[in-house]
Amino acid sequence: MSLRTPETIIETQAVTKRFSGSRGLFRPATFVSAVNAVSLKIRRGETFSIVGESGCGKSTLARLLVRLLHPSEGAVLYQGTDISSLSETDMRRLRKDLQFVFQDPFSSLNPRMTVGALIEEPMKVHTSLSRPERRQNVAELLRKVGLRPAFSNRYPHEFSGGQRQRIGIARALASGPKVIVGDEPVSALDVSVQAQVINLLEDLKAEFDLTLVLIAHDLAVIRHMSDRIAVMYLGEVVELAPNEALYNEPLHPYTQALMQAIPIASPHGRSMDAALTGDVPSPLAPPAGCRFHPRCPHASSLCSTEKPELTETGTDRMIACHHWEKFAGNAQTHLREPPRSANAEKRFTLFRERCQQQEPTTADNP
Ligand code: SF4
Repeated sequence: MSLRTPETIIETQAVTKRFSGSRGLFRPATFVSAVNAVSLKIRRGETFSIVGESGCGKSTLARLLVRLLHPSEGAVLYQGTDISSLSETDMRRLRKDLQFVFQDPFSSLNPRMTVGALIEEPMKVHTSLSRPERRQNVAELLRKVGLRPAFSNRYPHEFSGGQRQRIGIARALASGPKVIVGDEPVSALDVSVQAQVINLLEDLKAEFDLTLVLIAHDLAVIRHMSDRIAVMYLGEVVELAPNEALYNEPLHPYTQALMQAIPIASPHGRSMDAALTGDVPSPLAPPAGCRFHPRCPHASSLCSTEKPELTETGTDRMIACHHWEKFAGNAQTHLREPPRSANAEKRFTLFRERCQQQEPTTADNP
């Protein structure tokens, strides 16, 4: 195939994934388009993040990238090879390059295998290393992910959530991959542990020269480690931009709403407003035109009839919106003071009054 560019490691070409929906004796079969004609190019060595609300299709897209799922239409190219049409035998040869870290570290590890056996397994399948060499590599990988080699004889249930995710990462590294796709790899962990695992992934990326693809529903989680970010809504990419550009000036109204939803660690800087109104429409019957138009505060009549294509804006970013140029230069981000609703103002006043009432008087202080 000649579609590969020198810096592209994974490319999706109008990739679509449909799942069959409800089916009954007197009802026609229905289909849900979890991913709809997504075209992306992921560059070698970058950290590429995909964000969006639950149900937007980001996890399905992640599985398509490493062929844990087959696309219904379109193609997924890894280093120029269309992996969506490869035989299972040919795919097995490429499998060692494309590894996946699951969201739930507990259910992704076989509880009957020791940690050592879990990490050794990909080496048995993908390498010709001898048993002592594999054992040595297991010890080395455990050290790399911040665990003691002596832990290799223990079972997954003996570890905390953060440690289990480290084991999952060590297992993903065991085959010597070029790409690791993490499906919400830290969302099941405590906030303090999330930072440790994110830092670990960053360190390992540099050390092993990896390309990372991270899936997240929270823009705050991937903020500091992404090179580029794709924002998905209802199965489609609506904005794709470099990290700084996206956080400093989100252009798509949906990205702006996601930014507004990021909590700010200050009672005065936090928006209590609902960033988005209305529910996500059913993917069984997505709206015509722009899929975001029923919830978009800027929707025009054009938006409800004509679908905006994902197009280049000329600054290494792409956007699918008819009116994005109107928002350029005056986008509101969470970094600025978010607007407060009247109710939020009342709550803050009440809170301040209560605090004043509870302030200790001099009589309380001996
Ligand atoms: Fe909103 Fe219209 Fe842009 Fe869609 S195309 S995001 S409805 S302004």
